[in-house]
Amino acid sequence: MDFRLTKEHEAWVDEVRAFLDEEFDADAREAVRRGGGEWGGDVIRAFRGRLVEKGWLSLTWPEEHGGQGRSMVEQVLLMDELAYVGAPSIDMTSASVAPAIIRSARPEQRDRWLPPIRDGSVEFAIGYSEPDSGSDLASLRTSAVLDGDEWVIDGEKIWNTGAEYCTHEWLACRTEPDAPRHQAMSVLIVPIDAPGITVQGITTWRGMRTNQVWFDGVRVPAENLIGERGHGWRYVTQALAFERVAIGITGGLRRLVDDLTAYCRATEVDGEVLADRPEVERALAGLEVDLELARLLNHRAAWMIDAGRVPNAEASMTKVFTTELHARASTVALDVLGPHGQLDPYDDRSPLAGLAQLMYRAAPYLRFGGGTNEIQRDIVAQRGHGLPR
Ligand SMILES: Cc1cc2nc3c(=O)[nH]c(=O)nc-3n(C[C@H](O)[C@H](O)[C@H](O)COP(=O)(O)OP(=O)(O)OC[C@H]3O[C@@H](n4cnc5c(N)ncnc54)[C@H](O)[C@@H]3O)c2cc1C
Repeated sequence: MDFRLTKEHEAWVDEVRAFLDEEFDADAREAVRRGGGEWGGDVIRAFRGRLVEKGWLSLTWPEEHGGQGRSMVEQVLLMDELAYVGAPSIDMTSASVAPAIIRSARPEQRDRWLPPIRDGSVEFAIGYSEPDSGSDLASLRTSAVLDGDEWVIDGEKIWNTGAEYCTHEWLACRTEPDAPRHQAMSVLIVPIDAPGITVQGITTWRGMRTNQVWFDGVRVPAENLIGERGHGWRYVTQALAFERVAIGITGGLRRLVDDLTAYCRATEVDGEVLADRPEVERALAGLEVDLELARLLNHRAAWMIDAGRVPNAEASMTKVFTTELHARASTVALDVLGPHGQLDPYDDRSPLAGLAQLMYRAAPYLRFGGGTNEIQRDIVAQRGHGLPR
């Protein structure tokens, strides 16, 4: 067993780092930091344009679909490096929706949707959750009824992240009302500017915006139904496995642990260097161990995709472990930093550029996004270990 990166992987990491040195300079970092992570900001858009030019939004797609045919491990390494410097990352359109389209859509749908995803002109908000259907997604009520050659959509979605700037909705809806729950759902692509859609913002504790979205008699062409009618459950679970691998990346955590360690080495409290305190040393060592575990779990799930499998329990494991490590690591960091750690992240005196408290405030929603960690544990137990439902 060899868990090291190959020489090719190391060369890829070097290439990505050289690109980031060039393209994501101190001004860009500061703009993103001060923008509070708003995903639609100008700096983020411009940087995303550079990722498009490099073909990195379609890094893992087969060459026949205009991609670079690179591995999922390479995509995860790219995402780790982006997260480490605080750059905008590969978003869910490329990390989750595109792989689902490649695997499940009809050939003409791939031709229609993949090129604009690759060039960044189509971006999806993901419309699964509803006010009364979150974990129990199969109970969703948003309906689509075929009227001639159009689907007519009525219903309500919540936690629709990105709907305020995305161009389209990747919408899970009930098209087969009489079928068993898991055969009742389809996935439709819906332009967000279609008449009958209302988007209203919700601000999270972290400061990031998400949305509630209403659909009132919204009409889309029949061909916007992805793949086959009633097969939406499979497409959604597939897309969620990819989403969970993307949520499980560890570059941001690596940055926190590195910066915290450097801070502890450089900071004296009551005449003692923080890093010399046994309790600080123990805490930092514990984070290093957990971080290595998180990285290996994430790389394993990516490797499985490269081996032609869709990780289920493994995608859930990386998602659970990484997101819970966000909570643990940022709590340790805030303990070590003391009251200074609570300074506004945009305050120049804020240690670690506010990273500890930003991650602390992001941790709760990471536990929910992509499916809650309680549900992921069920998936690990049932699909990973064959335990009864
Ligand atoms: C900031 C943010 C962004 C999000 N972005 C999106 C997005 O872009 N698109 C999208 O579709 N969704 C998004 N989500 C939704 C997220 O995936 C859901 O919140 C999640 O699936 C849980 O659904 P719920 O909120 O209805 O909670 P519920 O399903 O009502 O669950 C409430 C609690 O009960 C627990 N629970 C429920 N059922 C079980 C069970 N069977 N066993 C054990 N525990 C259980 C849950 O784990 C949770 O702790 C986002 C959520 C947040 C907070």
